Amino acid sequence: MENSFHFKKSFGQNFLKDHNVIDNIIKSADIDKDTLVIEIGPGGGALTKELVPLCGRALLYEIDDRLEENLRNLLKEYDNFDLKICNFLDTDISKDLCEYKYPKLYLVANLPYYITTPIITKFIDDNVLPDKIVIMIQKEVASRFSAKINTKDYGSLTVFLNYYYDVVKLFDVSRNCFVPRPNVDSAVVEMKLKSKRKNVKDIDLFKKVVKDSFRYKRKNIKNNLKDYDLNIIERVLGKYDFDLNCRAENLSLDVFIDIVNEMKTYSNE
Ligand code: SAM
Repeated sequence: MENSFHFKKSFGQNFLKDHNVIDNIIKSADIDKDTLVIEIGPGGGALTKELVPLCGRALLYEIDDRLEENLRNLLKEYDNFDLKICNFLDTDISKDLCEYKYPKLYLVANLPYYITTPIITKFIDDNVLPDKIVIMIQKEVASRFSAKINTKDYGSLTVFLNYYYDVVKLFDVSRNCFVPRPNVDSAVVEMKLKSKRKNVKDIDLFKKVVKDSFRYKRKNIKNNLKDYDLNIIERVLGKYDFDLNCRAENLSLDVFIDIVNEMKTYSNE
């Protein structure tokens, strides 16, 4: 990267400069030639130049066209990558992926923090589920992604991600490892696609019920889900030794799935 490069805060441009962190991300990703890797925001290429030699193919999405020349230069000895200069959120990932056939799809990235959740939910909404995700995100967000039940960080996103993925926080990363230095610390999170998922009869209803359950964190399920059939909910909660006075943070993924499937059973009768 040229020293004169003017970093854009609006694009979440905090580039990694710490080689240990880069090595640890690459080791955790455990990429091989059978892997198609998606990287969102290659930036100055700190991760990219390590990823590309290891993977079968890399699909890189970068919004900032000022970075294109440098990235192409950096990767000039490789032909196993495609660089798309665009806003990742506007892409049709399924269509982009049609061109490739690889046994494994991974997402490895130091994400632009201002759109971490939209990026992850886009994959899920577009029904593109990487086998493994290794991402650097804001530490607070990492705590929510990987939160345990009955903790303050356990929320709708935790439950929702947990439906698809086993999520673990791998390690924290200090703000000093970036240029420019951000105002927050970071963490690297690993998400492995679950090989088996419980059947959810209506995924949109599941998303809505989970979201509504956590709407007011201090309110109980009776209040947060008052617009649904509380008899059904009470009956399901009873199976797990809960009643309507419990809070969403007390309920596991299985309970939410059970509630939604029961609602669907009765709505179809
Ligand atoms: N990967 C580099 C690194 O680790 O040093 C840069 C990471 S930086 C935190 C985030 C990168 O995402 C920047 O290069 C930024 O321009 C890019 N970016 C921001 N918004 C984007 C979007 N909507 N689509 C694609 N790339 C985006």
